[in-house]
Amino acid sequence: MPRGKYRIPKDEQILEAIEKVFGKRRVVDSQRGLKQLVEKELSNKEKYGVGEVRLRHLSIGIPWLEMEIHYRESAEKRAPYKCPVCKSKLKKVRNLTIFGGTVTLGFKCETCGYSSGLKRRIPIRYVFTRRK
Ligand SMILES: [Zn+2]
Repeated sequence: MPRGKYRIPKDEQILEAIEKVFGKRRVVDSQRGLKQLVEKELSNKEKYGVGEVRLRHLSIGIPWLEMEIHYRESAEKRAPYKCPVCKSKLKKVRNLTIFGGTVTLGFKCETCGYSSGLKRRIPIRYVFTRRK
């Protein structure tokens, strides 16, 4: 099948396919693995293609699905502006100092659970687990 010949599924189709995937197994240990399984569920006569980022964004919204993020730490100390996982705004994690001020310890995303210290953490792997 040449590139560009894939059909693009609707969100509902993807969500349905994710349910089917996790009806057969509890854990999918990578984003690429989830993409392959979802595409397999979607495709019958026609081939469907799903972008990994789109799939991750949809997965974050599923209450019965847990997404565990694995990281590597980068040397970069510049704070991330937006969540690298879901693009939400990051919240500063602060601590009070004994002098009555606050100190920023890191950053946290309340949408997907991404967290980082002052050294930026780069997501390298996602593990998806069915909760129910
Ligand atoms: Zn996030």
